[in-house]
Amino acid sequence: MLTFDDEITTNTIASEATNAIPSEVLDAFKEGKPAAPEVTAGRIRVEDKRIINCQADVNQLVPFKYKWAWEKYLAACANHWMPQEVNMTADIALWKSDKLSDDERRLIKRNLGFFTTADSLAANNIVLGTYRHISNPECRQFLLRQAFEEAIHTHAYQYIVESLGVDEGEIFNMYHEVPSIRNKDEFLLPFIDVLTNPEFKTGTVEADQALLRSLIVFACIMEGLFFYVGFVQILALGRQNKMTGAAEQYQYILRDESMHLNFGVDVINQIKLENPHLWTPEFREEVRGLMQKGVELEYAYAEDTMPRGILGLNASMFKEYLRFIANRRCQQIGIDILYPGATNPFPWMSEMIDLKKEKNFFETRVTEYQSGGSLSWD
Ligand code: FE
Repeated sequence: MLTFDDEITTNTIASEATNAIPSEVLDAFKEGKPAAPEVTAGRIRVEDKRIINCQADVNQLVPFKYKWAWEKYLAACANHWMPQEVNMTADIALWKSDKLSDDERRLIKRNLGFFTTADSLAANNIVLGTYRHISNPECRQFLLRQAFEEAIHTHAYQYIVESLGVDEGEIFNMYHEVPSIRNKDEFLLPFIDVLTNPEFKTGTVEADQALLRSLIVFACIMEGLFFYVGFVQILALGRQNKMTGAAEQYQYILRDESMHLNFGVDVINQIKLENPHLWTPEFREEVRGLMQKGVELEYAYAEDTMPRGILGLNASMFKEYLRFIANRRCQQIGIDILYPGATNPFPWMSEMIDLKKEKNFFETRVTEYQSGGSLSWD
């Protein structure tokens, strides 16, 4: 039995290990010695590999050092799916009927408004930013798979929008036009811009902390917090037999994203292990502040997408849920929790992620691929 919604994959690297900086590391650092071991010419050795600032050849996948990264890559590939394999017929019929309330329509549209651009941001962050600075081939292998999954997710949201015949201009511009969505994206952008700046290079304490900070914001706040109100909302609709095609797509997306989050957490904890001098008390306090800001932004988004309680959900449940998740993210990377005593008001989210593709997928699979938007409903 899963205990939390992101525990389908485990984090391999303990987060508690690196809160104290070993004195020899600090001494070496003060003397200006290199953080990474010297690499001699010849065949690559496992001990030469490092997540960042690796001096060895980054083109050579084996010998593996970070088996967790390779295993997550294999698991992600085993979970492959495509949006057009999900039947949207029931969603289209429901959307065109009068059986959805105005509040439910607002929720669905704002939900799509956030997600249609969020996964593009995620993909750009990986391809134009993160990938360059992660100097390990097995982690890069996962990042390549992750980048493709972000494309599949953007495709899924586009496919839902097209199937329902919702105004594309309205949905795809919400990240400019709806403040609760824009505020979340504006919070994220500086952390993406750092990594995509062509001048940015790791190798100094300042730069390595900037990378670590952006990795934490991306994995623990964007993928690990900003996605969760939206996931709960659509999956809650699905549990009431509404928008079941969209809910099925969100289930696959949630499963993928939980893998992204857990990979990100493992990368963060491994960087901490290899570079404990980055993990200062000031840095940890800063991360707590960012996490707190993330909770505030996501709560504002929850209130905006559902100003009145619907689907058995209300804003105060989301406040508790976000505090619970933020605590969990802090624990995963070894930061003191922010909200002692917070509990999970949506324990059913655990079951949502634990889906079996074979069981679920083929029951609803359409035999001929045809875009829902091209179906006729006269
Ligand atoms: Fe992702």
